[in-house]
Amino acid sequence: MPATILDGVKFAAEIRAEVASEVKALVSEGTRPGLAVVLAGHNPASEIYVRGKVKSCEEVGLHSEKHTPPDSVTTGELLDLVNQLNRCDEIDGILVQLPLPPQVDAKRVLLAVDPAKDVDGFHPMNVGLLSTQRPGLVPCTPAGVMEILKRSNLPVAGREAVVIGRSDIVGKPVAMLLLNANSTVTICHSKTHDLPAVCRRADILVAAIGRAGMVTRDFVKPGATVIDVGINQVTDPAEFARFFGGNARREATFRAKGATLVGDVHPDVAAVAGAITPVPGGVGPLTIAMLMANTVKAAKMRRSREVELARK
Ligand code: NAP
Repeated sequence: MPATILDGVKFAAEIRAEVASEVKALVSEGTRPGLAVVLAGHNPASEIYVRGKVKSCEEVGLHSEKHTPPDSVTTGELLDLVNQLNRCDEIDGILVQLPLPPQVDAKRVLLAVDPAKDVDGFHPMNVGLLSTQRPGLVPCTPAGVMEILKRSNLPVAGREAVVIGRSDIVGKPVAMLLLNANSTVTICHSKTHDLPAVCRRADILVAAIGRAGMVTRDFVKPGATVIDVGINQVTDPAEFARFFGGNARREATFRAKGATLVGDVHPDVAAVAGAITPVPGGVGPLTIAMLMANTVKAAKMRRSREVELARK
């Protein structure tokens, strides 16, 4: 039986609708949560991502502002901007779009973001809160993976989960979230011995590698849930044919655009998996939806802390 397709576009729309109604309620109480995006220098891919984020903010009713320092920006100038946004009461979330220009000390800039406004969830304070199961801001893509599992009613507790990838952005936080949800978690990486055999143990297999179609059928236990975080662009016709040969719809798109996206999971895996996220249209749409959700969460947490402080 072919795998159930886990529709990220549908889940993202649900989350955006929920966020929009939360924003409406906050606005009626006199608060409009706000997101500031810092886009330093000129990077066409980053500009597209930021445009999508600002558009999503408008759709859910969030205040948003874009700061665009030039390519020549210094670490000091970015630190000043971040500190100014940290102090700004209208701003609940700060997102520094990566990559930053090469002369900038990106780690220093990210560390300067107030953890209470760190909607990317990358600050060590938020990493610590996640690993000690305290409320905090969780990275958007990993949070999106958990939403897909939850909204698809796929059980997590007591299941074997295998995560391929140990990046700070995806692999490690997704593994921590699965552990916090009581999965038995194995984290794999480029030095893992006999990767297919380890992956075949998984009831839930998460691929966050950055290698087109690397996870093939022999990695997957029949019936497993496969979450494909990878986004890889394919432009070579021979590589395209390896993934999508015989798929008339994808062939037409590839001919028209000269490129297509493929995940880290080979499309053939859909024949053995029980459920699978497509690429595009799987994890990707959840990332921006969770950024909106994180901005509202940050606004609520900041307001409740202020109320608590005022009571003391
Ligand atoms: P990354 O920082 O490059 O990390 C890749 C991880 O994969 C590393 O831990 C690496 O192991 C591991 N790896 C690489 N080759 C491997 C191999 N042959 N066998 C086993 N493990 C291997 O990438 P990332 O930032 O986590 O992103 C991963 C993918 O997710 C990319 O395709 C990216 O575009 C995509 N992504 C998607 C979204 C979204 O919104 N859907 C968001 C973020 C990222 P080592 O640690 O040993 O090097």
